[in-house]
Order: sequence, then C-alpha cells, then structure tokens
Amino acid sequence: MQFVSPEQAAAETGWDLVVVGSGFGSLFFLKRYLEKRPDDRVLVLERGHYNTEDWQFQNGVNSDILPEQTFRHAAGSEKPWDFTIGLGGSTNCWWALTPRMHPSDFKVRTATGMGADWPIEYDDLVPYWQEIERFMLIAGPDELDRFYPGTGPYAQPPHHLSTPDEIMIEKGDGYHFAMPAAKLSRAVEGRGRCCSSASCNLCPARAKFTALNAMMETLAHPSVAIAIESKVTHLDVQNGALRAVHFENGGRDYAASCDLCALGANAIHSPFIALRSGIAGHGVGRYLGEKMLVDAEIMLDGVDHFDGGTDTTAFNLSIIEAGRSSDFANSVYLVKNSFKSGLRLDKGRWRQCLPVQMYVEDIFDYENGVSDDGGDEPVVRFKGFSDYAHAGLDHAMKRLPEVFSPLPIEDVRLTGILPTMGHVQGTMRMGNTIEDSVVDAGLIAHSVRNLCVVGTSVFPTTASANPTLSAAALSYRAVDLLLG
Ligand SMILES: Cc1cc2nc3c(=O)[nH]c(=O)nc-3n(C[C@H](O)[C@H](O)[C@H](O)COP(=O)(O)OP(=O)(O)OC[C@H]3O[C@@H](n4cnc5c(N)ncnc54)[C@H](O)[C@@H]3O)c2cc1C
Repeated sequence: MQFVSPEQAAAETGWDLVVVGSGFGSLFFLKRYLEKRPDDRVLVLERGHYNTEDWQFQNGVNSDILPEQTFRHAAGSEKPWDFTIGLGGSTNCWWALTPRMHPSDFKVRTATGMGADWPIEYDDLVPYWQEIERFMLIAGPDELDRFYPGTGPYAQPPHHLSTPDEIMIEKGDGYHFAMPAAKLSRAVEGRGRCCSSASCNLCPARAKFTALNAMMETLAHPSVAIAIESKVTHLDVQNGALRAVHFENGGRDYAASCDLCALGANAIHSPFIALRSGIAGHGVGRYLGEKMLVDAEIMLDGVDHFDGGTDTTAFNLSIIEAGRSSDFANSVYLVKNSFKSGLRLDKGRWRQCLPVQMYVEDIFDYENGVSDDGGDEPVVRFKGFSDYAHAGLDHAMKRLPEVFSPLPIEDVRLTGILPTMGHVQGTMRMGNTIEDSVVDAGLIAHSVRNLCVVGTSVFPTTASANPTLSAAALSYRAVDLLLG
C-alpha cells in the first residue's frame, strides 16, 4: 500500500477521485472504479489507523478508536451504534452474513403506506450481487433462487447444517435455508475454513472476508494513495460542485482538491460531514435506524443442536414470504449455532436447545438522526424502535412455534432485544427527487453532481436482510452508471 502524508495528499493539484473512508461502500466503489479507470489518481482519506490483522488479534479489538468516542448521545438517547473506525472500516468487525435483499424490500411504502419505496428494484442489483457473491467467495445454497431469482451458483457450498436445520428442511414447508455467508466453507490459499467458534469479529481462521485479507489488490493498487489518521471534516462545495475535501490530521487542517468524491464514512459520520458542508436534500442526517435484533430460545425434546459448521447455520423466510402488513413489521428467523444463553442446564440434555435470532425491520423515523451542535463529533438521537417494529416482534414470537413445528418443541423463551446489531443505516437516503431524498438512484447527491454517497447511509428502509452485500452492490452499480 502506498501511504502518503497529509502534506502530500494536499499538495496534489487535483485528484481524479477522493474516497472518504475505507469500509464496504468505499472500497467496492474504488474496486469498480479502478477496473474502469486504472490510471486515474485516487486518494483514500481514512480517519482511523491501519490496524493489521496481527494487531487486532494481539489487542482483542478491531480498532483503538471505539465507536462511542466518535459521537455523542443526545440527552435521553443512549442507544449504542457499532462500527469500526480504521483502515478497512467495518469489514474488520462484521460477521459476514450475506443474504440478498428480498424483492419485496424495495416496496415497503407500497405495501404498508409507511416508510419509503426504493428508487430501484430487485432486478437492478442482480448482476452486481452475482459478481460480488463470486468475488467474496460466498458459501450458500443455490436453492435460494426460488425466492431470490438469479441466485447461484454460489462460489462455495453452504456451511454444514445442524441436526434441527436438517429436520426443518426435510419436514418443513420449504422456507428454511442454509445462510449465505462470506466465510469460507472450503479453505483457499492463505485462508482457512470457518471454525464455527462464534468469534467472527476477530476471525481466527481468516475464513471471513475482510478488506485486509481479500481487497489488498484494491488498497495496494499503484494508482491509490492512502492517508490514514485523516479525519474528513467537510467538503468544499461551490456553485453546486465539489472542489475539495477538507480533513484534519495531527491537529492541522488540510484540503485535497478533486474532480469526484465518494463519501463512505458510515451512516453516522457521512451525514455529519454533509451537514457541515451544507449539502442540500430531504433528510440529510435524518431517518437514522437499524433493524431490531432479538434473541429467543427453543427448548427441544430429544433433538441435539450445536453440530453445525458455522455460527449462523440457517435462516427461515416464512414471515417474509407471507408478506408485509401495515400492522406489523416483517421479520426473519436465524438459527444460531453458538451458545447464546449457554448450554441447557438439564443433565444429559445440554444440547437440546436452539438459539433463534429474529431480525425485525423498522420504519426509519424523521426524528431519529445525527445533528451538528458545533462540537467536534456528531450528536446522535434515537427515540426507540417504532410500534410497527414492536408489533413485528410480537408477530414473529407468535408464529415461532408454528414455523418451527417440525421440531419437538418443549418451550419457547424470549431472551431479549439486543442494544444494537451494527447495521447503521438511513441518514443520506436514496430516492427520486431532492424533495424526498439526498441522493438519486445512482447514489449521486441531487444537489452536488460530483459527490457520490456510498455505504448503508443511502438505505431508505432497513430491508429484511443484512445490508452489506447490497451496499457493495450499490457501489458497483453507482460506478457503472457514472462511468459506463
Ligand atoms: C459487529 C458487527 C457485525 C456485523 N455483521 C454484519 C453481517 O453479518 N452482515 C452484514 O451485512 N452486515 C454486518 N454488519 C454491518 C456492516 O459492517 C455495515 O453494514 C457496513 O460496514 C457498512 O458499510 P459502510 O461503508 O457504510 O461503513 P463502514 O464499513 O463502517 O466504513 C466507514 C469508513 O469510514 C471511515 N470514517 C468514518 N468517519 C470518517 C471521517 N470523518 N473521515 C474519514 N474516514 C471516516 C471509517 O473508519 C471506515 O473506514 C455488522 C456490523 C457490526 C458492527
């Protein structure tokens, strides 16, 4: 990798592209851009340090900068938000579950009268998902094609299922599938297969796809210069065009001038930069949210679990396929192969329990978001998950015994709503016009046509799936629309 000092970054008369942040949105944008423009001069401005994989293992964390050191809570708003600040962004900490968005996820408003429809449809992302699924060497089941058209063949076979999963697939109603994951089910050179130790933020086998183990070709591309410890503060916009990206390094301010900027500083920091730069559009810094993540446990009678080959072995689409309602949110069940609440405390029946996680979608609320009170970091407010999400959870709990009825269920226990699932979304939403959104369907800011916003901040709704595969696909698509 070619690291440059802030002085070198600022001295260049004009970068063809400045990329802000080096997480999923940014690096997939950069990878695609370099495929098309390999000789352009690109600068990556990354706020965090370069914490090598060895450093992360030795220190037991992904970064020495904690998320909560980078924002402040508004009064009475204590919900945590999780992400990595550092080279590679949250590719370092993610757990690499990679289902696609469901076709119905793009039409939430049409179905419920709430939230927003996406300005694109499922089919718009299919070629990009396919390409990225191959690149990330995703292990998954080709049978998903039934509900997610254009799926497969995946690059690797799915991870080994647990015994309850096999029963669900054999005796269930066809909605239970192995979970697609960017964790190897077969070793490749330099990387082992998933060890199912449920310590995915620091993957001991290097089975998990990260920027540092699988995107070095992009980061070390001869056209790319990287300035770390460079915190972008604002963008210089004149007459509707972005001229330069301002950043802070070692207590000093610098500016890097450029023709094009890809802003991918996550859904808390991108809007803060946009607010400081006067970027216009509906909802800049608004509509912050994520799905609700809920743990439950099924006590089984005579069937052992925990014999799967990865941390999350399967997901169940029963509720998604039944369709959304304006009364309650959509949800998906996941089967966890790790001891969420410990082993069962009945002698001889230690493994007769099935941890189930529920992802419950939420409708982003205009009042939740990021603001600038003149301090160094954004102020984040979140008034709680909506009634719609809570009703979705009630619905998912009610249907759980029926959905898992192929299993010998003794008891179902709700163990709790988790504080965060690390899916920060929604503050620079995409849409059709400046009256309803910040960026267009190609991720270009309505008000600044050489500013492209990447990453999960552009999501208009949470969607039912983990967001990152789709954020990467949106970045690829944005470059294709921009450069042809
Ligand atoms: C514990 C955990 C587990 C997760 N598991 C999954 C999963 O299994 N599947 C899934 O789909 N998603 C998962 N996610 C979510 C996933 O990590 C995010 O959806 C994804 O990383 C978002 O991409 P992004 O580009 O928007 O942001 P990020 O990947 O977070 O990248 C943002 C980048 O911007 C940099 N930055 C921030 N501020 C500035 C600034 N001012 N100047 C310069 N640089 C800046 C950061 O250092 C970082 O490099 C998980 C998240 C967490 C926290």
